Order: sequence, then structure tokens, then C-alpha cells
Amino acid sequence: MLEINKVTINRILNPTSIDLGEYVINPYVGCEFACTYCYVRSNKAATRRKMPWGSYVDIRVNAPDLLEKEISEKHPGTVLLGSTTECFQPVEKEFRLTWKMLEILNRHKVSYVILTRSPYIAEYIPLLNQGFCKRIYFTVNKVSNTFKQLIEPKSPPLDSRNDAIHKLLDAGISVIPYYSPVIPWVTDVRDLFSPFTKAERIEFEYLNFNLHNAQDMVRHISVAEPALGIKFTGMLSENNYHEQTWDTLDEEIARQSREANKKYKIYRHPYGEFFQNTYFS
Ligand code: SF4
Repeated sequence: MLEINKVTINRILNPTSIDLGEYVINPYVGCEFACTYCYVRSNKAATRRKMPWGSYVDIRVNAPDLLEKEISEKHPGTVLLGSTTECFQPVEKEFRLTWKMLEILNRHKVSYVILTRSPYIAEYIPLLNQGFCKRIYFTVNKVSNTFKQLIEPKSPPLDSRNDAIHKLLDAGISVIPYYSPVIPWVTDVRDLFSPFTKAERIEFEYLNFNLHNAQDMVRHISVAEPALGIKFTGMLSENNYHEQTWDTLDEEIARQSREANKKYKIYRHPYGEFFQNTYFS
């Protein structure tokens, strides 16, 4: 059962060190998709809340009014939407906060970058192709239905995300398909480039074992596939094994990139301090 709360806030443009914008905008707090690997689960505000991640969404009802006001004060160049929530999650259909934010950003000619995994964003093409959407990072993955159920049971189907990416690209919007998290032996790394021939590049983020919740996810996977549990344990207890596992993936992605003649970028998290949350400590 989803708990929905209407809340008011004091600030909507929050400075960020993420290099995708000067400020982040999160119209909601919480996320219905409840991915097991979500890094936001581990942040201080979410842990203080003492409610399971995915069981609540706060609707920041005064966010559009604040945005109007703060744009005139702060004159942002580029903002990032969706750093700690999913702007296009199902509640958006009712509350339309993201829609209102995009209208305001367009009107004030402020550029924006969006992080999403929701195909619902394709409904927003009339707003997104007005020249201010700089880029959309669209999270995809290639895992079996069994693993999808284990790691992100409530997120939109993987095929529907690929379809949405095609619609956005066809509308002339810049989209980077973002494979995340790439999980060794779970993500099917065959044929990663051909679904996205129109994208300018493809990016990959390897699973960050340093997050607390990665441990839970690995445990879920290991229960379903004990042989994988043994491999993960090996990876986590031996630097060489860890590095070799990711090196093999690096090589495979590089090979496919050459074959597809398409650029790519990989985000790889360092070995060590496993299960220590290094983002929010
Ligand atoms: S969609 Fe994004 S914000 Fe929502 S749970 Fe998944 S990773 Fe977290």
C-alpha cells in the first residue's frame, strides 16, 4: 500500500556536485519503483524515515511556485531532474508536478538534464522537444524476468523502456541509454549496442558493491542462484577476482563498441570497503 503525503518545502533548486547541472530538482520524495539497488534507500533522510523504500511518496505541492521564484533569483544555467526520485513515476499522472516544472523551465529558457527509467516520459515529448532538454539518461538493463523480479519488481518492463527511448530519439531528443546496474553473470552482456543504433553513445554503470543495499540484493540473487552467491563472495573477498571480473566486462563492451562503431562510457566503482556506504557517510 502506497502512502501519499502532500508536503510543502522551502527550496526546490538545490545545489549539487553532480556534474550534470548546477542544481537538482526533485518534485517528489520517495519512489514507487522501489528498486532494491537504489542508492537513495541508504541516504540519511530515507533511513530516518523508518518506512520501507517504495512504500511512500511525498508530493512537493509548492514546488512549481518555488521554481518560478528561485529561477528569478538564482538564474540557473542547467538543472538536473530526478537525482533522488523518479520524476515520471505513476503519481506523476495524477499530480503533474514534473509537467509543471518542465513548462516553467521551458518558459524561462533553462536547460535541463533528466534521469529516468519510466516510459511515461514519452508522453512529454511536446515539452521535451522545445529545445531546452539537453539530454535524458534512460536507465535500461538486460536481465531475465526472474532477475528483474528479484532486483526491481515494480519498475516498468525493460522492453517498454527501449520502446520509449526509440520514441524520444525519433522525436529528435538526445537520449543516452544507461545500462545500470550491470551485474556480473546476471546482466546479459551479449548484443548491448544494437537495440540503440540511433543513440549517440551508450553508458554503463557497474554495480556498486559499496552501497549497503547491494548486500541485500546480492543476498536475494544468491538465494535464487546459489552458484552466483559463491561467485559474488569470491569477487568481494579477492581484489584480483573483483578486478578481473570487471576487466572482462570492459573488454567485451569495448569489443562491441568497435563492432557497432559507437561511443561508450563505463562507470566502475573501486574495490574495497564493501558494504560501506561511501556516498552519504
Ligand atoms: S527508479 Fe530510481 S529513484 Fe526510483 S527506486 Fe529505482 S533507482 Fe531509486
